[in-house]
Amino acid sequence: MIEKRKFYINGSWVDPIEGRDHHVIDPSTEEPCAVISLGGQADTDAAVAAAKDAFHEWMFTPPADRIALVEKLLDVYKSRSEEMAQAMSMEMGAPIDMARSSQVGAGASHIKNFLTAARSFEFERPLGGHAPNDRIIYEPVGVCALITPWNWPMNQVTLKVCAAAIAGCTMVLKPSEESPLNALLFAEMMDAAGFPKGVFNLVNGDGAGVGSQLSAHEDVDMVSFTGSTRAGKLISKSAADTLKRVHLELGGKGANLIFADADDQAVKRGVLHMMNNTGQSCNAPSRMMVEAPIYDDVVEQAGEVASQVSVGPASAEGRHIGPVVNATQWQKIQDLIQKGIDEGARLVTGGTGRPEGLNKGFYVRPTVFADVTNDMTIAREEIFGPVLSIMRFDTEEEAVRIANDTPYGLTNYVQSQDGARRNRLARHLRSGMVEMNGQSRSAGSPFGGMKQSGNGREGGVWGIEDFLEVKSVSGWSPE
Ligand code: NAD
Repeated sequence: MIEKRKFYINGSWVDPIEGRDHHVIDPSTEEPCAVISLGGQADTDAAVAAAKDAFHEWMFTPPADRIALVEKLLDVYKSRSEEMAQAMSMEMGAPIDMARSSQVGAGASHIKNFLTAARSFEFERPLGGHAPNDRIIYEPVGVCALITPWNWPMNQVTLKVCAAAIAGCTMVLKPSEESPLNALLFAEMMDAAGFPKGVFNLVNGDGAGVGSQLSAHEDVDMVSFTGSTRAGKLISKSAADTLKRVHLELGGKGANLIFADADDQAVKRGVLHMMNNTGQSCNAPSRMMVEAPIYDDVVEQAGEVASQVSVGPASAEGRHIGPVVNATQWQKIQDLIQKGIDEGARLVTGGTGRPEGLNKGFYVRPTVFADVTNDMTIAREEIFGPVLSIMRFDTEEEAVRIANDTPYGLTNYVQSQDGARRNRLARHLRSGMVEMNGQSRSAGSPFGGMKQSGNGREGGVWGIEDFLEVKSVSGWSPE
């Protein structure tokens, strides 16, 4: 069993002051695979103090030097990518091929996009030609607490750490206790890249402990959080007393609007996107909404595609999906599938229990429900498993109304060959992102949501701006 009890504070690996052991469970086998330490208030305080001490010097380190360290980090990240893929695959259950390509790849591409954005970012700029003595100075927010989830670990860690570092912030990362090994490896990479001591610190802990301590800490200037809407609310409340900046990336319940003129791959694409990462993505297109004339055909096709999705252990190569992360999530998904059945949705494929042939591991049957209405629990709650809900609509207006009738607003999807309609829908869907006809958003585009999906924008230039204060200066002397 891997033993990784130390924290990374002030440029060194240190023993916890108040640590207690925590076993990391391999979701493919249900067996412990590592033991880490969960810190307490004294560990949180030590890490925050290190970040606070390092702040002034890092803030005034020229941006070009900060960028050069992130370039170095990218080299180290690439050279240790296989170790990173293995860590994520074991601790959160991403099948190894997918861990190598998407999970590790997401981190590399975010770092590259930040570097591109940073190289042309003007940290000091004129207000405008009308005001020669005014300057706008973008300066770092300060000490940042970065709290991340387990589902796309390197995606989220790089989105926060690299943006904060380029902005000139110092930081304490608290990764999810479900998947800490990738973050510990990432800390080794930050160390190898040569960041000055105290700029980056890592303390393991749970939400009730280190997570809450960071959110309430008076020397933390900002919390950047990705995770559940539940925890986002708690963090906002505990951050309120110190009025720190709170940046939230939360859950979603994306609608995928399939019109009768959609391309012939649209249904397959939608189902496979839902199943990707075993349904554990905040931007999953979990409500497939289908125009009435093609509804029956789409339900049949979706059922066929889902029934061909194979499920297996994360260590096996291939294009299957892995287990979900832990026993709690497994049980929550089972309860929601049962709720779908009880509330009258039509089970097309899948259902409760493990897939055939798998009797250990947190495996879920790829499941499709049809005849779902938007008031059913499975249409309202984020399931975070491989479960798709299909609904029918008659008109574009009705589709927009149903799609927007959710507390969430992260990503919506549109499948239609009608360009004018696509543009109309892009304007009317209330979400931070709208993706159409299977086209991914391009490098450097901002990721984030509206409503209860959060308020932050991560990635590219917007991601860097999230960690900056805007200072307005008059009486500036031309240099
Ligand atoms: P979670 O909220 O339980 O945990 C996320 C992190 O927050 C962990 O590090 C956890 O220890 C910490 N935490 C929990 N309670 C806390 C508290 N009270 N104070 C401070 N920290 C606390 O979420 P999860 O189950 O790990 O992740 C899944 C959720 O994340 C899903 O809801 C998903 O939609 C969301 N998510 C959102 C995005 C996005 O960018 N919008 C991306 C990925 C995941």
